[in-house]
This record gives sequence, structure tokens and C-alpha cells, in this order.
Amino acid sequence: MKLHFQTLFVAIGLGIKRNGHIFLAIILGILFGNWIHNNPDKLQAVVSILDIVGQAFIRVIQMVVIPLVCSAIVVGISSIGDSKQIGKFGKKMIILYTIISLVAVSIGTTLALVVQPGVGLHDLISKTSAAEVQAQVNGYLTLQQGMLGNIFLDMIPQNPIESLAKGEMIPIIFFALIFSLALSKVGEINRPIVSFFESVFAATMKLTDWIMVFAAPGIFALTTVAVANFGLQMFVTISKFFLVLFSGILLLFFVVYPLMLKCFSKVPVGTFYTAIIEALLVAFGTASSSATLPLTIACCEKRGISHKVCSFVLPLGATLHMDGTALFQTVAVLFLTQAYGVALEPIQIAQVALLSIVASCTSAGIPGAGLITIALVLNGIGLTPQQLVEGFAFLFAIERVLDMIRTTANVASDTVVAAIIADNENEIDYDLLNNTDEYKEII
Ligand code: ASP
Repeated sequence: MKLHFQTLFVAIGLGIKRNGHIFLAIILGILFGNWIHNNPDKLQAVVSILDIVGQAFIRVIQMVVIPLVCSAIVVGISSIGDSKQIGKFGKKMIILYTIISLVAVSIGTTLALVVQPGVGLHDLISKTSAAEVQAQVNGYLTLQQGMLGNIFLDMIPQNPIESLAKGEMIPIIFFALIFSLALSKVGEINRPIVSFFESVFAATMKLTDWIMVFAAPGIFALTTVAVANFGLQMFVTISKFFLVLFSGILLLFFVVYPLMLKCFSKVPVGTFYTAIIEALLVAFGTASSSATLPLTIACCEKRGISHKVCSFVLPLGATLHMDGTALFQTVAVLFLTQAYGVALEPIQIAQVALLSIVASCTSAGIPGAGLITIALVLNGIGLTPQQLVEGFAFLFAIERVLDMIRTTANVASDTVVAAIIADNENEIDYDLLNNTDEYKEII
């Protein structure tokens, strides 16, 4: 009898921490989604309802992202005050982000060249690429080409209020950074604005806490819908591609990030992963670095990394640095060239790797963005327009779960860089970080 009660409590999630709830939600979502996929005539209404629940969860977190990013940057930068220190943070951030991205694409390239996941899969690609998806994809390719010419100009907002209203993260961050720098130079007169943003920041953090109450059901819904759309069988069909991508991401998690932490800081790896676990699980569930940002900041700040570092490094990282995406793009493009029998010269392979870094930087932190910007890497590597569209549509069909996996790496690497900078600049409270038993739940 007692055992039954225990099972029941676990089943309804009592007595386990919030990250346990979310983890359980992901596992149940995968199993339930796969079951629905295999029984397509049953429960389609449930999938529609779960889709609404999942989208509602993403919307409520996205709702706090813009006020959070603006307030975090204003409070963070004006508290740094000294522009030399900001320059130091910035330099370190660029160096570390570049190193991690280069390592990520090197891993992707090596694995794809050794395992050759695309060889022999031409038929599968044309079979999976349904005509209606191809039509949609054509639109994306055209849109993307139009956008690429303006990447740099688009970073500068003509009208910051318009960018705010449209939720354009890069121009918003650009303006917030220089505005905060200016604020830090005008002396005491900046107090009303800084106090205003301090209040906004505190309130958005509180909202994030509340939203986390819905994390488990939200993520269960998102995972179920993602898996129900194509089922786990798909991974068997594309097993080699999935294997290469997944091994690459695992190498990032278990070799590259730990080595970075060990070489460049004294942050203990296991403890650090415990500190950021909620953010990683939410990144997996939502497939959006931007939507996860409130959580990423909450985990890092509540567990020892200073506000100064978090407010500067994490919003920029969530928007501009995505090494899970860069790795995915490298593997996906090499996969397609192998499937179509296009032989690439070493210089072209290097071009794919480097362009993947650029393309990943231009991806917004939202679901599916990395797949759209992959057009930049795919262009000019010798695929015919028909193959390009077919290949793109194939990736589209298997996209969501791959996105969940790469987004988790995107978020992890941002936090790793924040931790290293914080360590180097004496901006970590190690007593707080190391005391995992005392970690407050996010809520
Ligand atoms: N979904 C990813 C992110 O938000 C971007 C991508 O599509 O790769 O980090």
C-alpha cells in the first residue's frame, strides 16, 4: 500500500525538484508523442490541445524576454560603469565564443567526414521531401537571400522603439548597450532611469519564477507534439545522421565545455551543470535560446555568477552565439553533399565550416531559425537548385527534435562562457555556486 502511494506521489511529481518534473515531462512527452505517432487516428484532438498548451508556455516566457533583456543590460552596464571593464568583458567574450564555435564546427566536420552519414541516402531525401514543404522552402530561400546582404546594417536600429515593438533582438541589444554606456557616463542624473530598470528587472525575474510553475506541463506538451509529428522511427531511418549530430553535441557537453571550464577557470564542472540544469531542460523543451534566456539568467545569477557578467554575456550569447547550431549546419550540409554525391575540395569543406559559424550567428534564438539560415551555407557548394530545395525540405521534415538538441548546446555554451569570464574577473560567489544543497528552486 505504502509503495502505491509512493508511486502515485512520484507520478504526480510531488517530492521531486522542479528539474526532476521537467525531466519527467520530457521522457513522458517522448513516449506519449511516439505512441500517438504510431496510432494516428487516435487522440489527434489531444495533440491539438497540447499544441495550444505548448505554444502558450512559449508565449508567456517570450513575453518577458524583451523587458528582461533591456533591464538586464541597463542595470548591468551602468553598474559596471567603467568602460575599460566592459571592453575587457567584451574581448574575452569574443575570444571564448570564437574558440568554442571553431571547436564545434571542427567536431562536426570531422565526424561527418569519418562517418559519411549521407552516403546512399539520396532516395530517402527525395521521398521525405513532400512537394508542399518544398514550396514553403522556396519561399524561405528567397527571403534568406534578400536578408543576408543586410546582416550588418540590420544590427543598427533606425528607430529603437520600432525594433522593440517588432521584438528584433540584435538591434535592441545594440541600442541597449550603447544607451547604457552613455547612462553610465552622465553621473547621478542617471538614477531615475537606472532605478526604473532595476524595478523592471526584479519584476521580470519574479515573473520568470511564476512561469516556471508551468514548465513541466508546457514542456510535456511541446515534446509530445514534436515527437507525434514524425515519431521515433524516423531516427532509425536517419540513424547515421542523427548519430553524428548527437555524438557531436555529446562531445561538446562532456569534453569541450568541461575542458574549457577546466583550462580557463576553476569552476567545478559537475556543480556548474547542476546549477544550470533547469535552463538546459527548458532549452530542450522550447527549442529557443531567447525564450530560455530568463531562465538562463535566473539559474546563473541565483547560483553565484554576478549580475554584471550575466546581463552582458547571456543576452548577447543567446542572440549571437550558437555553437550547437553551427555544428548542426556543418553536419547537415556535408550530409546533403554526400547524399547527392557532390565531392567537396578541402577548401570548400573549410568554407562550409566557417560559413556555418556566420550563419549560426545570424540565426535568431527561436525554433527553426538555424534551418533557415543554413541557406547561407548551402549556396554555392555545387548542389543543383532542385537538390537544394529537396535537401532543405528533407531537413525541414525532421527539424524539431534536432532543434531541441542543438538549442540545449547553444544555451549551455553561453553559460560556460559567462562562468569563465565571471571566474577570471572575480565575479563568482563560489560559496553560493558550490552549495548545491541550498540551491533555491527557480520559484
Ligand atoms: N532554435 C535555436 C535556438 O534558439 C536556433 C536554431 O534554430 O538553431 O538557439
